[in-house]
Amino acid sequence: MAAIPPAAAGCPVVIGAGIAGLMAALHLAPEPVIVLAMAPLGSDCASAWAQGGIAVAVGEDDDPARHAADTIAAGDGLCDADVVERITASGAVALAELARHGTAFDRAPDGRYRLGLEGGHGRRRIVHAAGDGTGRAITMALVEAVRRTPSITVLEGVEARRLIIEDGAVAGVLAAADDKPLVLPTARVVIATGGIGGLYRETTNPLTAIGQGLALAARAGATLADMEFVQFHPTALAAGQDPMPLVSEAVRGEGALLVDAAGRRIMADHPRAELEPRDIVARAVRRETAAGRRVFLDARRALGSRFAERFPGVAVACRAAGIDPAVDLIPVRAAAHYHMGGIAVDAAGRSSLAGLWAVGEAAATGLHGANRLASNSLLEACVAGRTVAESVGGTTQRPTRPAVVPPLPPSSRPDGVRGIMAQHVGVLRDRDGLNAALDALMPLAFGTDAEADPALVGLFVAAAALQRQESRGSHSRTDFPAHSSAGTRRSLLRLADLKCMLDVDDKRVAIGA
Ligand SMILES: Cc1cc2nc3c(=O)[nH]c(=O)nc-3n(C[C@H](O)[C@H](O)[C@H](O)COP(=O)(O)OP(=O)(O)OC[C@H]3O[C@@H](n4cnc5c(N)ncnc54)[C@H](O)[C@@H]3O)c2cc1C
Repeated sequence: MAAIPPAAAGCPVVIGAGIAGLMAALHLAPEPVIVLAMAPLGSDCASAWAQGGIAVAVGEDDDPARHAADTIAAGDGLCDADVVERITASGAVALAELARHGTAFDRAPDGRYRLGLEGGHGRRRIVHAAGDGTGRAITMALVEAVRRTPSITVLEGVEARRLIIEDGAVAGVLAAADDKPLVLPTARVVIATGGIGGLYRETTNPLTAIGQGLALAARAGATLADMEFVQFHPTALAAGQDPMPLVSEAVRGEGALLVDAAGRRIMADHPRAELEPRDIVARAVRRETAAGRRVFLDARRALGSRFAERFPGVAVACRAAGIDPAVDLIPVRAAAHYHMGGIAVDAAGRSSLAGLWAVGEAAATGLHGANRLASNSLLEACVAGRTVAESVGGTTQRPTRPAVVPPLPPSSRPDGVRGIMAQHVGVLRDRDGLNAALDALMPLAFGTDAEADPALVGLFVAAAALQRQESRGSHSRTDFPAHSSAGTRRSLLRLADLKCMLDVDDKRVAIGA
């Protein structure tokens, strides 16, 4: 672990080193900042795995208003229109910033961006780099930029385990370095810990994406929002790996078809067929697999021998499973992929707790509503990285010296939680299943062992899903299949609300708090 320079004492702490955390740290420069990263920079973050690219309206037939309209349509009545407008309008600036930090986006010989098409987008607007290696290209460029920036101190191999709260405000971070406690006194913390896919047995996310930042924030009293909205990707490669490699949506954008074992197209009856937003496609895939039928992507005709050139990463994953997409069908299943919910934040990225900000997938900004439009998350991470940094940088540093430091909890492990979430809180949900999830998760969440934080996050998802008695966006209730006219309010939950809802005895909760 790097030593903490004296100038960094008491400075803001960013927890997480994906694109959101790295962008926030870079925008804070020259103000000193500490970045905590559980793993070496560039590894174990969803950012480095992003394939399709970053959605920005730069095509000649496109503009930010169209991008905003597509985002709102996918979000199914729950997007915050102001946030959508601001973020879609900031795309070109975000691309320029990424290019300045060293990302070389794919361009045609005439210098124009090569633009991909993905489900729910009415125009080609997915800017990519290194074919399907966009996330890695951006992340590694940002890692280099961070390493060149003297005001940023990166603590690799350090895991945040609790926030320290005094007088109702953030007073520090309790982290673990080599499993020993490390206290970082600070009045300003940015949570950038990514998503929660690792809480599910079938996921495309790094297995460390278990919503640790959400647990930290919730236990400190911050409000979480939109927790029920988990996006399942319809085409995770079903070849036995954990996590499951992703077969990018852009493959369908290039014309690949979803078929069953008999070659019947499973999306043929839908107006936009394979290019419907991914909640619709994921439900179609899930219904097939739940009925015991296998589903495949057929890219033979659309891409054939061009597959490996356009999607080198997917081709490698397929080859490792003995599949050649030029001539073979690609077996796929729906898998947990992205979390629209997270720590509720305002336009500046501020949470409900003084001194706590959130950015990237860990934050619920209102951009995605009930369903994220493909490739909008890298855009959000880049744009919000700047907004959060401006807000943190504009807040006066308050000296803190935490008087009471909680004991160091164990490192989180979601082992038992994954099966519960997959079985009861997956693509298709109902009241009995969600209640079964609550019963199974409650003792874990309010215990003190390694499953406590993952189970608490799962509990928030299941409780919000139970409360939302309708189907909307990615949240699909088989017992409430229609929209409810009362359903257009975002769900907000604090730990105290959850306790009331579950009628949990205060003493038991205090043990895990
Ligand atoms: C396979 C795949 C493909 C995708 N493709 C696209 C795409 O094409 N376009 C798009 O827009 N989006 C895509 N997404 C989604 C997108 O990659 C993520 O939403 C986005 O990268 C999240 O960025 P982030 O910085 O918020 O989190 P992450 O990149 O996940 O980073 C989280 C960081 O937090 C750290 N961390 C977590 N907990 C702790 C802790 N307790 N202490 C210290 N550090 C911690 C992690 O180690 C990591 O460094 C894809 C996701 C996946 C999984």
